Amino acid sequence: MKKERIHLSLAHMSGNEQKYIQEAFDTNWVVPLGPNVDGFEKDLEQYLQTDKKIVSLSSGTAAIHLGLLLLGVKPGDEVICQSFTFAASANPIKYLGAKPVFVDSEGETWNISSKYLEEAITDRIEKTGRKPKAIIVVHLYGMPAKMHEIKQIAEKYDIPLLEDAAEALGSVYKNQKCGTWGNYSVLSFNGNKIITTSGGGALICPNEASANEAKFYATQARDQAPHYQHSRIGYNYRMSNICAGIGRGQMSILNEHVARRREIHQIYAERLSNYPGITVFQNNDKTVYSNYWLTCILIDPSLAGYDREKLRLAMEDANIEVRPLWKPLHLQPVFEDYPFYGEKTSELLFEKGLCLPSSPILTEKDLDRILSVFEKTMTNK
Ligand SMILES: *Cc1c(COP(=O)(O)O)cnc(C)c1O
Repeated sequence: MKKERIHLSLAHMSGNEQKYIQEAFDTNWVVPLGPNVDGFEKDLEQYLQTDKKIVSLSSGTAAIHLGLLLLGVKPGDEVICQSFTFAASANPIKYLGAKPVFVDSEGETWNISSKYLEEAITDRIEKTGRKPKAIIVVHLYGMPAKMHEIKQIAEKYDIPLLEDAAEALGSVYKNQKCGTWGNYSVLSFNGNKIITTSGGGALICPNEASANEAKFYATQARDQAPHYQHSRIGYNYRMSNICAGIGRGQMSILNEHVARRREIHQIYAERLSNYPGITVFQNNDKTVYSNYWLTCILIDPSLAGYDREKLRLAMEDANIEVRPLWKPLHLQPVFEDYPFYGEKTSELLFEKGLCLPSSPILTEKDLDRILSVFEKTMTNK
């Protein structure tokens, strides 16, 4: 008989979600917007310890789209984006008719390399006579990017930062929460992220005025008039009051979930430390606090005696969901014609890397089952 599937990353309800949803039904707020939306935004502002203003939206992708729109990205502009990320980081560049320019990662955090970022900026200025309009930096797998260095370069060339913190809620860099570092920042509450609203996202805006602008574009860009009057193209991107109710419930277990994901990461790190050719991705810099959304490993086939693919298939065989690391965007068929600055860092990570199951609901027994597949693969080489 096949054993029960162990998933890569699953949402887990606290039990408080029902209360907020019931409240919405009882007060007939089963509509877009309403008290849960305001409440969820306040909860997030408090959690992030920020004076910035948060606008909850239908997805993280929508938040990136509106963030770039508010940064003034227009058709024909260039936008720099970390190549080693999920396609949703870069797709909105194309929604706006702009052109992505991809930059490689550095080996310590796996996020955008400041060396190649600067090289990309100066080369684009030289080639096009214009500055890139924005820089998209990602905290991949919850690991904070080197924001001090990146900000310094962004400020030197006066280019705004869009911070994709979709995977990094709860991560901290130099005593400041991820999601508060960018000119605009983005969170995701998709089903597999740190917390979920069943689907949703948020745009963290620098002030009240920009948050109001985000809300304007997210609700069909209605001008102030008694009738429906429009002088801009708008979107239907707001989060519903029901989804925000789930989000409010999830906030009550956010810290617990981050702690558990970090614990799972620690268990993997300890138990895999004697396995030849296996490196668990971590950052020992004391100013960095990762939520370890997913625990990632690198497999060196010359030491392990097996490669990433062999281990992946063995896991699948045991009904355990694992996944290769993100395929760099500059290698994706849809983006292959765009400029790329870097070497082979992200490409090699993709080749050797695997994400392991990291849900907070993972049990000791599940972990034993996962570890036993390493054991088997090692002896069956
Ligand atoms: C999930 C994710 C997004 C998109 O968020 P959605 O809410 O799924 O639209 C963007 N960037 C990264 C890095 C992500 O992991």
